[in-house]
Amino acid sequence: MFNSGIKVRPGPDGIHLFDRNSGTNLLIEEIAPVDSMWAKAPRQVSIALTNTCDLACKYCYAPKTRAILDYDRIVSWLHELDSNGTIGVGFGGGEPTLYPRFAEICSYACRNTGLAVTFTTHGHHLDATLLTALKGNVHFVRLSMDGIGSTYERLRGRSFHSFSQRVQAIKTITPFGINYVVNSDTLPDIDAAAIFAEKSGASEFLLLPEQPTNGCAGITESTSRGLQQWVEHYSGRMRLAVSEIGADGLPTCNPFVNEVGLHAYMHIDANGVLKPNSYAERGVPIGPTGVLSALADLRQNQTRL
Ligand code: SF4
Repeated sequence: MFNSGIKVRPGPDGIHLFDRNSGTNLLIEEIAPVDSMWAKAPRQVSIALTNTCDLACKYCYAPKTRAILDYDRIVSWLHELDSNGTIGVGFGGGEPTLYPRFAEICSYACRNTGLAVTFTTHGHHLDATLLTALKGNVHFVRLSMDGIGSTYERLRGRSFHSFSQRVQAIKTITPFGINYVVNSDTLPDIDAAAIFAEKSGASEFLLLPEQPTNGCAGITESTSRGLQQWVEHYSGRMRLAVSEIGADGLPTCNPFVNEVGLHAYMHIDANGVLKPNSYAERGVPIGPTGVLSALADLRQNQTRL
């Protein structure tokens, strides 16, 4: 049982210590572990539990094919990742709260592994019953909020007032952050959105420059420039973060200069296919030999996929 404790991850940048309860990271660069000691699994792994979602955001990248992961397969992957050095797992989708055994898988991961458990949600199913079941079983939640007020309602098709109420509710059980898709619709709201997030108690504001999907073209050059200027002038207290795939042109600080690519992050989609990120169309199916075996194939074949 791992109810608390510090995870120790040797890697090419040194020894990484991580406390999932406080979110504290410490990198000891003075110690250089030899290659054979490096953690074999990526630092962070996202898992799409299901493709199902009851919203229809036009910039959504989740596949629209029906797919859902088997609970027992997830459990075995969590143990494999945990024992091979992964420090955190992020459940997503689709909408992960629509996964039938969602609270159960969070609880299992929290109580039976040393992984930090997070999930990304639109938030509208976080009612009292689900919050009670999740309390003590997640370490961080990411709430998706693209624009505020009428912009949010136009893009997400849900009441912003009810979203605000879900924000107030989540902070009673866990630290949280706001995920913000940046495009020409949402950039004009970004100041007000950051103020809303900070006042609501968010500790992180994750910028997700819109990526091209079947439904939209991705962030425009002028919106990218506007975002760069906003980041340069941001003076709020929240930690700003940006998706790796949208980070071009933005100032970032990453102490893990050598632990990159598939050593840093990978994604498992709702069909059980291992991919370099959640936007990738192709990857390697995870078979009975497990995640690390599929990861070895993915590393070998990445240039051909
Ligand atoms: S809430 Fe998320 S998963 Fe659902 S449609 Fe919107 S972007 Fe896609």
